[in-house]
Amino acid sequence: MTAPSAARPDPAGESDGPLRTAALDVVDIDFGVGIMPGVEFDYGRLRSPERDRSPYGGGGFSIELPAVLDLLELVADGQVDPRQAREALREAAEKIYLPFTVMQFDGDEQLTARCVQDQDSCPVCEHRRDWFEALLDENDSRWGRYIQPEAYPFIAGAGTVHTLACSVTRRVMPDQYERPSGDDYRRELRRYAHSVDATSGRSPLDHDSSYPRWKAMTGAETRAWMEANTGPKGGRSYKLCQHCGPTP
Ligand SMILES: [Zn+2]
Ligand SMILES: [Zn+2]
Repeated sequence: MTAPSAARPDPAGESDGPLRTAALDVVDIDFGVGIMPGVEFDYGRLRSPERDRSPYGGGGFSIELPAVLDLLELVADGQVDPRQAREALREAAEKIYLPFTVMQFDGDEQLTARCVQDQDSCPVCEHRRDWFEALLDENDSRWGRYIQPEAYPFIAGAGTVHTLACSVTRRVMPDQYERPSGDDYRRELRRYAHSVDATSGRSPLDHDSSYPRWKAMTGAETRAWMEANTGPKGGRSYKLCQHCGPTP
């Protein structure tokens, strides 16, 4: 196989880097009767106005000619069914779509509209599902602590330490929390995945009072937190709440 003519994006890397003008990827196409290995695909280089389609219809993708010729030969020989070939190509394009790049060529609105139509194949939700799961794990852990006030009597948020019973804490923390599931899960995944800032990790969920946003701490953890928020000259970058007067 010849060397790629374009810089190959790292499939394991995060795709939300600067906008690329083209991507190149290599896919083993499975035709059911055998695999055509190392087929080179590209995206964003060729686009005929005669066939201006969305990426879901193959728009923007190109494929090396020898692979096309071999494929047609397989079809002509009756080894591969034409419909099977078409489906295999479409699937190969989807494989490239998912891990990187192509989603950057679509606008947010377009991606969201597509997600609303068919979330199961939404590349954005799929690509960021792990981040969302990690965030839910974190929320589970925060909630688990919050409902054990004897073990975790203090909580810090916005640079201030409170008790769990403090009215400020109660305003910030939800009365009840359950990890979203079913339709809730899908809705929240979409809300998160389509708006999270890939660099900072910030999302609307950070400001949603139905999620446990603060983390309760043991006395020792609170003292360590206070220590970590005290400068070398004793300057404090935190406060102890005047309403609840925590004494960690
Ligand atoms: Zn989505
Ligand atoms: Zn307080």
